[in-house]
Amino acid sequence: MDYVGRMFRPPSEAHSFLLQVTIGCSHNRCVYCDMYRDKQFRPKPMDTILADIDEAAELCKKTGPQFRRVFLCDGDALILPSKKLLPILEAIRTKLPWVERVGTYGDTRSIGRKSVAELTTLREAGLGIVYHGMESGDEAVLERIDKGGTREESIASAAKLREAGIAHSVMVLLGVGGEDLSKQHAANTAATLSQMDPTYVGALTTTVVPGTPLAQMESSGSFRLPSKFRMLEELREIVAGVELSDCRFSANHASNYLPVRCTLPRDKAAVLEALDKVITDRDERRLKPESLRAL
Ligand code: SF4
Repeated sequence: MDYVGRMFRPPSEAHSFLLQVTIGCSHNRCVYCDMYRDKQFRPKPMDTILADIDEAAELCKKTGPQFRRVFLCDGDALILPSKKLLPILEAIRTKLPWVERVGTYGDTRSIGRKSVAELTTLREAGLGIVYHGMESGDEAVLERIDKGGTREESIASAAKLREAGIAHSVMVLLGVGGEDLSKQHAANTAATLSQMDPTYVGALTTTVVPGTPLAQMESSGSFRLPSKFRMLEELREIVAGVELSDCRFSANHASNYLPVRCTLPRDKAAVLEALDKVITDRDERRLKPESLRAL
């Protein structure tokens, strides 16, 4: 397989075939992110991508299918124009016919550039889910972290994906508003998620990674990460405030201090009760130790 640099994928794509179709992230400016800082964004040559699909098909001919899903890497493969994505999806369908779902990262830019008709064509060709790192529903926070998209654009993206029949998994980042914007980050994230009403929401916890602009902001005093318990309070405020019709909500990423996995609204009362207990007791032994956390 032709893999360039470090590879990243959402936790739920752990057993997927990772097919690298772009290198890096076309935005590459979010202040907390160091995933692709060492990579200059560029699409990979089609020949290389198709050779990787052939290699996976050959391997599976010998061993039987080793995966049911394919995840298109790197940071925002959906930024590729449909005329490049469609032959990739068609090759997956032809050469790996047992694949049940293709997923990718996408954001307000890559979804915004495509019409509902284009997204529908991509879904018909096999694209089943888009993972969208929205991080916050608060405009001031989005601007501070240089997310490159607005709250309204996230809401519009959700509507387009829904109309096209593509599942939408939205990630939010506890603590990313810092201490000063913590309250409005939680309240506006809950309000924005309610308007988006996605099928999946994942809440991750901010880690200040050395060498990132966020680390520089922390050194200069313009950003202060909220305490662990304040970040759990943010999670509680989001769960309490959000109104979703039927959503798998998880906060069980490696970065989180307390794993939560539930269906909302069904489990809302039980989750709030569990969070209240931990927040009230302030018992650090209930939280994941720093040494076991990861990005
Ligand atoms: S869009 Fe995603 S991959 Fe790109 S810089 Fe932001 S967080 Fe990192």
